[in-house]
Amino acid sequence: MRVIAIDGPAGSGKSTIARRLATRLGLEYLDTGAMYRAVTFATLRRGLDPGDAADVARIVGDIELEVGAERVTVDGVDATIEIRSPEVTRAVSLVAANVDVRSEMVRRQRAWATERGGGVLEGRDIGTVVFPTAELKVYLTARPEVRAERRSQEVADLSYEAVASDLARRDALDQSRVASPLAEAADALMVDTSDLTVDEVVEALASKMRT
Ligand code: C5P
Repeated sequence: MRVIAIDGPAGSGKSTIARRLATRLGLEYLDTGAMYRAVTFATLRRGLDPGDAADVARIVGDIELEVGAERVTVDGVDATIEIRSPEVTRAVSLVAANVDVRSEMVRRQRAWATERGGGVLEGRDIGTVVFPTAELKVYLTARPEVRAERRSQEVADLSYEAVASDLARRDALDQSRVASPLAEAADALMVDTSDLTVDEVVEALASKMRT
């Protein structure tokens, strides 16, 4: 099984790089952050409190998720746009800290890769927890102001300051949670993407793959 694990904080370039690398290597791509966002969307849609761990744990196994490269559907409803909303972004780190949510998502992520004989998975815990034996593990970073600038270009309706403070808040929550915190695997290749082009990063990673 050919698995490539790409982890790092928001705005580090994970999604862009993971997609491009997957195309380049002829592999499929999975955005695991979209899965945690989709569970958060389903929680809010059911009128549940995302901070109520027991309630969220009760429903997580029943949520029907389809996370494709282009579209995300939750319980049969297209939620591609909604999972990026400020409401979901605000609550997602809380839902992602829930151990029952994590074990269900990790199970689905492993099944996804097994069905396909591998793939490029991006997230926060892919190299540390989901696939510690991945063929290539990458940890992408970038300076905080570069990450905030990239994100604020994607979300037109929020100011740079709002995006920067949301990123700092999510980084702190993701790094300090007890279950599978955002961390660099000891054997991950660390790349600071602040001053590199997408092509430069993709080339550097592709050159690390065994042929
Ligand atoms: O990648 P993205 O910023 O969309 O991820 C949203 C949130 O999902 C993160 O802030 C984090 O709390 C959670 N997440 C996670 N583990 C992953 C991927 C995302 O906890 N593998």
